[in-house]
Amino acid sequence: MHTCHYLVFRCMDFRIKPSILSSLLKDVGIEEGDYDLVSCAGSAKDLLGNETERDFLLKQITLSQKLHQTKNIVVLYHDNCGAYGIADPVEEVTTQQADLAKIKAIVTEQFPETQFRAFIVKGVPRDDLWLEKKII
Ligand SMILES: [Zn+2]
Repeated sequence: MHTCHYLVFRCMDFRIKPSILSSLLKDVGIEEGDYDLVSCAGSAKDLLGNETERDFLLKQITLSQKLHQTKNIVVLYHDNCGAYGIADPVEEVTTQQADLAKIKAIVTEQFPETQFRAFIVKGVPRDDLWLEKKII
């Protein structure tokens, strides 16, 4: 049986390079090779979308848990996200934090055995990215 500990949602944005993503996750204790990775525009934003959008992402969680026994969900957002399209950085982070709280509520209701964490990657589009302290 193949298992890993985490399911990570990230935005598809190319500016967060895989090598940098790997390093950022390692900084918060998530080792390369220990997570399933879902890459979508806006990360897990579509959990707040219409039924089709939400069901697609919920299916990824269900399959990750069924196939790899993942017990931890990590949602990575980032600044300057085109899926949000909010020019003002304060408004963007406020909106994203509110959305992450709603996403946490949905995920923990549907998957009560799951631990949930969320971070916002800061510094996009530069190369010196960092993870803002755990949001949720
Ligand atoms: Zn994005």
